[in-house]
Amino acid sequence: MKSAIIGFPRVGKLRELKFASEKYFNGEITEENLNAAGKELRSEHWQLQKNAGIDYIPSNDFSFYDGMLDATVLLNAVPQAYRNLKLSGHGTYFSMARGFQGVQGDVKAFAMKKWFNTNYHYMVPELYDDTDIKLSGNKPFDEYAEAKAMGIETKPVIMGAFTFLKLAKFNGGKHADDFMEDMIQAYRDILERFDKLGAEWLQFDEPALVTDLSREDTARFVKLYTEILKEKKKTKVLLQTYFGDVRDCYNEIAALDFDGIGLDFLEGKKTLELVKTNGFPESKILFAGVVNGKNIWKCDYKKTIGLLSEIGKYAKHVVVSTSCSLLHVPYTLENETKLESGVREHFSFAKEKLGELHELSILAERDDFDALDQYRNNRKVFEADRLYADKKVQADVSALSEEDFRRKVDRKEREQLQKTEFKFPLLPTTTIGSFPQTQEVKKNRSRFRKGDIDQAEYDRQVFAFIEGCIKKQEDLGLDVLVHGEFERNDMVEFFGENLAGYVFTQNAWVQSYGTRCVKPPIIFGDVKRIRPITVKYSHYAQSLTRKPVKGMLTGPVTILNWSFPREDVSLKEMAYQIGIAIREEVCDLEKAGIRIIQIDEAALKEKLPIRREEWYSEYLDWAIPAFRLCHSKVKPETQIHTHMCYSEFEEIVKDIDNMDADVISFEASRSRLTIIDALKANNFETEVGPGVYDIHSPRIPAVEEIVQALHKMLEKIDRNKLWVNPDCGLKTRGIPETEASLRNLVKAAEIVRKQL
Ligand code: GLN
Ligand code: ZN
Repeated sequence: MKSAIIGFPRVGKLRELKFASEKYFNGEITEENLNAAGKELRSEHWQLQKNAGIDYIPSNDFSFYDGMLDATVLLNAVPQAYRNLKLSGHGTYFSMARGFQGVQGDVKAFAMKKWFNTNYHYMVPELYDDTDIKLSGNKPFDEYAEAKAMGIETKPVIMGAFTFLKLAKFNGGKHADDFMEDMIQAYRDILERFDKLGAEWLQFDEPALVTDLSREDTARFVKLYTEILKEKKKTKVLLQTYFGDVRDCYNEIAALDFDGIGLDFLEGKKTLELVKTNGFPESKILFAGVVNGKNIWKCDYKKTIGLLSEIGKYAKHVVVSTSCSLLHVPYTLENETKLESGVREHFSFAKEKLGELHELSILAERDDFDALDQYRNNRKVFEADRLYADKKVQADVSALSEEDFRRKVDRKEREQLQKTEFKFPLLPTTTIGSFPQTQEVKKNRSRFRKGDIDQAEYDRQVFAFIEGCIKKQEDLGLDVLVHGEFERNDMVEFFGENLAGYVFTQNAWVQSYGTRCVKPPIIFGDVKRIRPITVKYSHYAQSLTRKPVKGMLTGPVTILNWSFPREDVSLKEMAYQIGIAIREEVCDLEKAGIRIIQIDEAALKEKLPIRREEWYSEYLDWAIPAFRLCHSKVKPETQIHTHMCYSEFEEIVKDIDNMDADVISFEASRSRLTIIDALKANNFETEVGPGVYDIHSPRIPAVEEIVQALHKMLEKIDRNKLWVNPDCGLKTRGIPETEASLRNLVKAAEIVRKQL
């Protein structure tokens, strides 16, 4: 049996690409230096895969920022505004990724959206009526040739035409169908170029096929590929899907002229059933996604070999593959030196997964597989008792009853009590929590981690940062202050460190967007709070000012969604365990005199099942209660805030309202305020702070820009319910732009108040 992967992490073993890119952005290295860094990483990754014995090695899975953005360039879909800047080299590319402000002009970054149900974010292509789709650029061809020159035949990966159109935003009068012909031609040209280069395989990624498809969608998909594949010559074409099953178009896919079809047998609940009931075309190769590309647990060979043999009954040619690109897991376990034994052997990161694929490709062909060492060693891990089980925690979850999920006083009444309590002006101003993580802030943390300073000295520094931050916010005139989050670099890791059942890595970074990476902690056992987590910092901050300072916590669903979850218990069980831990912290904050507590659910939308029919049964039915669990016990005067990173929750507005928070802030400036209509249409009750400017870019919003945004919001939102805040936390920003932006924000709120 042969082995394949869909894509490999790009940032490098120790985030080399991130650091090179950031140096380039800061003008510390040249474009040539950056290109060289990219080249080195690509060659390292190909060599690694080759050495591991992978048969189908991807190329063009590398990107300097994002694969969708690369496709935008490849298809000549760079909007005029960015071309007009006339920037050279990578300039135009990065102006779409990050926005640009300079003598050449001022443009915002492309919108950024969550990549299906992952924590990766892609850049949303913008198509205008004058967009002239055609093949332009050489990146995939150059990278294929680059690998070839190393003696490695790769399977180039191209964002599929269907997914591209499905995810693109149409900014003019034209729609997907109006671009079909040009898309077909462009993809034929891509195919032809690879054919000329002698590529054996070409992979089109079509994850959009696992979403709920309308008839028109399916028809569009069939049309695209019927036409594109007509020009197929020698290069074989693999249609690659992932993140779910293709229940709406399985037969259409099977009937098209693909040489290989990649299906996800892990997240695709119905994949096996589809293959069983409909069969699999004998002439095609099934790339069977059976090794988890999204989780860090060692692959269970017993289960997987069973699955492969089941698949083998229906498909003649099977290649063992990952469920999705390895982009979503960290690079290698080799960088981890501190994991205790009893823990470490449970894990497998990208590099280790290559080894698993290779072993599986051998084991799956042997009748005596269970006599082989590879298999036996794997069995040992799954047969041993697991560390960190806690019966008490499990019992606490079982004992939860209805009142654990309900505040005693309902929201309308609370609103009145809180108005009297806080006496805010109209349009109260606040921020989302974090302030810039300066070099000093980071240095303090790293010195503490290294053991250079003790807890007392560390806290003394953090308190000093807090003091500066409170003073700054008072100067700026914000109404509700924050302590600045200087004690944490990550909103999940920090909490995890104070919870039993969690395991941490040193270097297990996963790309979130562009140069930003996250290091998700791992839920290894039952979770409980070990000690108060934030109380001393929030309490200190509040002692410095008469204005309310928000306590700042991360909610259970987000902690869960941004961790690597266990595979041996349900998500609901984990969410409730964490919910109980956060509730203890909420109660302690309240006791310490904190009157406003924000429980961030930044990632609530993230794991909403791709299939609508599973939204409630598989997710919302426990996710919303898990949040309510955290604040059910507080006084009615205590104001509960929450924050969500993406405003794309139009379709679950009622469920968001049902979290029963008092105030919610969310990202709105990048998605250009579409959520507001949905709030109105659903009589949204929670007070809202749609972000008035984008914090993902260093751009400073003008006062007038914010004034306009507020007026637009006020057309739809009751003035008594509107808050004014940025999109998200400010930790990735520099101090000068942060202060300037917040000053403009406060000024804008003052102006609009006077106009009301
Ligand atoms: N309170 C967090 C912060 O400001 C929220 C971050 C987020 O939503 N991702 O950093
Ligand atoms: Zn956010």
